[in-house]
Amino acid sequence: MASNRKLLVLPGDGIGPEVVGQVLRVVEWLGAKRSLSFDLEEGLVGGAAYDAHGTPLTDETLADAISADAVLFGSVGGPKYDDLPFELKPERGLLRLRKEMDLFANLRPAMVFDAMVDSSTLKKEVIEGLDILILRELTGGIYFAEPRGIEELPNGDKKGYDTNLYTTPEIERIGRVAIDLSRKRRGKVTSVEKANVMMSGILWREVMENLFKLEGQDIETEHMYADNCGMQLVRNPKQFDVIVTDNLFGDMLSDCAAMLTGSLGMLPSASLGAVDEVTKKRFALYEPVHGSAPDIAGKKMANPIAELLSFSMSLRYSFDMQDDADLIDNAIQSVLASGIRTPDIMQTGMTLVSTDVMMDNILKELDRSV
Ligand code: NAD
Repeated sequence: MASNRKLLVLPGDGIGPEVVGQVLRVVEWLGAKRSLSFDLEEGLVGGAAYDAHGTPLTDETLADAISADAVLFGSVGGPKYDDLPFELKPERGLLRLRKEMDLFANLRPAMVFDAMVDSSTLKKEVIEGLDILILRELTGGIYFAEPRGIEELPNGDKKGYDTNLYTTPEIERIGRVAIDLSRKRRGKVTSVEKANVMMSGILWREVMENLFKLEGQDIETEHMYADNCGMQLVRNPKQFDVIVTDNLFGDMLSDCAAMLTGSLGMLPSASLGAVDEVTKKRFALYEPVHGSAPDIAGKKMANPIAELLSFSMSLRYSFDMQDDADLIDNAIQSVLASGIRTPDIMQTGMTLVSTDVMMDNILKELDRSV
């Protein structure tokens, strides 16, 4: 019987199909043990789509993504495709999805599992139990706004310049996502800009202040300069819940926050768009931060946890299934605590396992939890 949860799975290239394949075992488990079924569809993207159709994303797959409740993405790219023209490169498939679905909100959680506390470069007491979310505006600001360019000056020198530009609706829509997300978490939003030196920062703060007053009375809100936020992330990251910021500051702060937690194989992300007026669904794509890892593809060495945490984010933010997301996150926590490790997170005295055996263990833990 068809369920009302439509999930489009795009495994992609390299380790993408390996880690997505493992996550589908958890989707199956949810059906068998929790009676939660998904309408699963699978499509090609990246190099795999190029091999089959001569393009990294077909119009049909794009239409499927737009009509799905959520897209679970693996990874794209690989040396085989290095010499393709720019527009046909595997990565263009992902960029087209982001653009056509207008995925303006990029969510990057920084979560430290107890068992991984020693993998961070920061002191245990600073990061133990850390669970924060950086929300980055993804489609506006200095990476896109005009004018931008490199020009030659009359004296032969050159000038290079970019424009940081945000409009009121652009700031409001990312602010609303922040408020929304914080309500599903600990109810605190920190808005970050540089209103002390940038005009776009002054507007950002003004719009956020108004929005918080009108729509965020039930949550705690604050404003912080971006340079201070960078410092606070390293000094005392646990003071934050949701940090909302523009494209440029978000790029830097999310990388900084991610590295509080350790390995690339453990980092999930989500990109959200607007709420569709007809269906009332928010466009959403969930993907690990890592790429297709050609160096380990096909060797059963990939860590499936980043992909599984991305799926767990889809349960939280697209399907409103917080309890099931918690079950998955807790199962990962327990498996890591028992010393099971894929090569990327291996430490002395731990048990080294392959991609599928890592998932065997997570499934066993899930079985134990219900
Ligand atoms: P990468 O993230 O693929 O790999 C970097 C390093 O991290 C490699 O040593 C890899 O083995 C390791 N690694 C990554 N994911 C891992 C996992 N789950 N488990 C264990 N180890 C893991 O980045 P790269 O090497 O710079 O890029 C490889 C290809 O991926 C390129 O074609 C690049 O364009 C593409 N890429 C795609 C995406 C995406 O699909 N979103 C993102 C980044 C890079």
